[in-house]
Amino acid sequence: MCEMPSAFTTKQRKALKAHICCECGNFINPGENYQYSSGIWDSEPRSFKQCGNCYEIMQAASKSAEYCEDSPCFQGLHEWFNDYQCKGFTGKEWLHSMASQINIEPEKLNKLLCV
Ligand SMILES: [Zn+2]
Repeated sequence: MCEMPSAFTTKQRKALKAHICCECGNFINPGENYQYSSGIWDSEPRSFKQCGNCYEIMQAASKSAEYCEDSPCFQGLHEWFNDYQCKGFTGKEWLHSMASQINIEPEKLNKLLCV
């Protein structure tokens, strides 16, 4: 889902029933806010639900990306970080350097990456 969609909307919604976040796979419980994004990719309508935490990380990661195409794509947030993972860094160390690079709290990032 890295191509640019031909139509795209994103908005915050309050969950009426439980959903599963498309990035971290955790539950979005009823009453919690989540980000609902929908659009048309390759003439196919798709929609994605992200928990508030993953949405925040995605925004931060997109902001840190130098070029638009370097931004993480839907369902690709975890992978985006894996691409940055380099040898020589151990789990926590890497998590902290990644967190400071995109300017987000390490605890939030760890909810997604579970280092
Ligand atoms: Zn999530």
